[in-house]
Amino acid sequence: MTAMQPLVWDIPGGIHPPERKQLSNRTSIQSAPLPKRLVLPFNQHIGAAAEPLVELGQRVLKGQLIAAANGFVSAALHAPTSGTVSFIGPQPYPHVSGMLAPAIVIDSDGLDQWCELTPCPDYRHLENSRLLEMIRQAGISGLGGAGFPAAVKLNARPTQKIHTLVINGTECEPYITADDLLMRERTEQLISGIDILAQLIQPDQVLIGVEDNKPEAIAALRAALNERSYQLRVFPTKYPSGGEKQLIQILTGVEVPSGGLPADIGILCQNVGTCKAIHDAVVLGKPLISRITTLTGEALARPMNVEVLLGTPVGELLEFAGLDRGKLNRLIMGGPMMGFTLPDFDVPLIKTTNCLLAATSAELPPPPPAMPCIRCGECAEACPASLLPQQLHFFAIGQEHEQLKAHNLFDCIECGACAYVCPSSIPLVQYYRAAKGEIRDLEQKQLKAEQSKQRFELRQERLRRAEEQKEAERKARAEKAARAKAAQAEAPASTDGAQTAKPAGLSDELKKLKIEASMAQVALKKAEKQLAAHTTPELQTQVDQLRNAATAAQQALDAAMAASPPAAAPAADDGALKKAKIDAAMLRAQLRKLEKLEAPDDDQQAELARLRQQLETAEKALIDLQSQTAPTAKAADDSALKKAKIDAAMLRAQLRKLEKLEAPDDDQQAELARLRQQLEAAETALTAAEAAAGKPAPTLLRTDKQPTDDATRSLKTEVAFARADLRKLERDESSATDTLTAARQRLAEAEQKLQEHAD
Ligand code: SF4
Ligand code: SF4
Repeated sequence: MTAMQPLVWDIPGGIHPPERKQLSNRTSIQSAPLPKRLVLPFNQHIGAAAEPLVELGQRVLKGQLIAAANGFVSAALHAPTSGTVSFIGPQPYPHVSGMLAPAIVIDSDGLDQWCELTPCPDYRHLENSRLLEMIRQAGISGLGGAGFPAAVKLNARPTQKIHTLVINGTECEPYITADDLLMRERTEQLISGIDILAQLIQPDQVLIGVEDNKPEAIAALRAALNERSYQLRVFPTKYPSGGEKQLIQILTGVEVPSGGLPADIGILCQNVGTCKAIHDAVVLGKPLISRITTLTGEALARPMNVEVLLGTPVGELLEFAGLDRGKLNRLIMGGPMMGFTLPDFDVPLIKTTNCLLAATSAELPPPPPAMPCIRCGECAEACPASLLPQQLHFFAIGQEHEQLKAHNLFDCIECGACAYVCPSSIPLVQYYRAAKGEIRDLEQKQLKAEQSKQRFELRQERLRRAEEQKEAERKARAEKAARAKAAQAEAPASTDGAQTAKPAGLSDELKKLKIEASMAQVALKKAEKQLAAHTTPELQTQVDQLRNAATAAQQALDAAMAASPPAAAPAADDGALKKAKIDAAMLRAQLRKLEKLEAPDDDQQAELARLRQQLETAEKALIDLQSQTAPTAKAADDSALKKAKIDAAMLRAQLRKLEKLEAPDDDQQAELARLRQQLEAAETALTAAEAAAGKPAPTLLRTDKQPTDDATRSLKTEVAFARADLRKLERDESSATDTLTAARQRLAEAEQKLQEHAD
């Protein structure tokens, strides 16, 4: 450390209000008593509020993380003592408005029990990222009053290397002595914190700025700096030398550009209290849960500096310092120049609380009523930022935001020097704060409106592109359809106007032939089995016929399979063909009905003649239509055939059931007649459907049925019914023995009759 007087520069403006620091700087730092209840607002810093991590009723230990940093510009929160979380929600917040803010309330258990800490005295081997993370996890925000998260400030990417680290020990505001006492009594920790910062930043120089009204602190620092190259620069006391930009100008002679940051000119500034907190976080592993705060003012019996837990109610602290409520006129958080009036005692102490000033009316009398500006210019002379406070005042009254910005309103550090010297007692700073708020709100709204506009325009653009794409696709489809139509128009010319057969036609035909060949095989095998069991001439004849039919069906299938796919076979009008078939079938049915008459009268004879003629014409038309149709292209109406088969089978079954009746009554007789008539019509329709389906071997089915006469069919049916009834009774455990015996007897008799008939 050099013994030479360091070089310092002066700043424009500035004032010399009564310092009143002696009130609180004569005693050493006290420990505030452990409060029973601590209130910890989520937001005690600049940036996003912390996110709570604890639940109601949860026990927490001293130093335990209770709320995490929520975003890049945010700071964590830790339990200042051990106890129980008794409330999470709105609580009084230290603000001039007396507003509430979300907070965690901890009821102390009086044990003050620490959680497990991770000290790192040998931090020099740590990577910068690890050091930064330790500072971030400790929830340190600037303790000089601004409350900007320290880790964010250290992690910022400046446009150029940080060549100068400035340590702010100025504490220029009247009454406040917290940093003074910290520099005096926590010197080693402070220097250790600067060492950590120096390791992180690797600056070319470290400048410690202290006003000359703190001789004890200066002496302590000089002694502690020892061999270190850090430069302690002492300069004349003047308010507001402690402003970041002002101190940088005093120590380096360089002015931070309007609207810029110290990092823009390669300088980083940290408060001495923040340096000490960084030491605690890294070397001791302790998060920020307490701070040194000045308790001062003539309404206190024992003004002092206390090391106090965050969240301690202001009222309790003031009681500890001997508050005389009768004397108290105004309670200020911060100093008399930049602090703000607290509306009540219930608010908690937070990270940025460097002073509680309990002032009497004598020491801080109410300001006289504001008078009109007399344009004396005193304010401009006092302004450390070289602004024109009276102009700003006029622009603020007129809400001339552009003018305010043009006159560098945002360079105003709200030091209050202008208001302090104003002979008209105009509360200038209040105007500036209000104007800044208005402009920020307006800009925020404009930003949102701009973002909305951009989103709207992007959406419109998206919709436009989507519509264009749809239109292009529509056009492509239309062109494709036109091309297909043109191709279709050309195709018939090559086939003499005939339509092209569908490839699926052959496939359907083949399928049908396969089914028929398969059915013929099944019928043959069944008959062969019966022949093997009971060799009779009739069965032998039936097997021979079935074999012939199966061979014919297989030959038809083989021929169709061997044939190549149909090449544009002309297809007849399927609808007309079907109609012709049905017409012919209907005429045939009518004709058969009349032909059954044994002695038709004249009219019936005439009708017969007419029907025969019509049938002849219909069959001729049908043959013509069939001749126009390629056999493979005539797809049979399988579903109509199937339906006709089912109808006929159902009628047969109903008829059989009724025929079993030994003595049918009149209604049953009528029903029998009706069913026989319906069956006859159904069989006629079935024949027509088979013809319409172009069934290749219709005789196959008839061959299967022809040998079975009515008597045989009836006997077989009786056997089947008798067998089914017996099985049903056998399955039923409750069936009587007599009933079972009778059922077995019935089956035996039926089988015997059938056998006798067959023989
Ligand atoms: S000091 Fe007060 S009266 Fe004088 S110019 Fe400034 S605002 Fe006006
Ligand atoms: S409050 Fe603003 S305008 Fe007034 S002296 Fe301070 S910096 Fe200048």
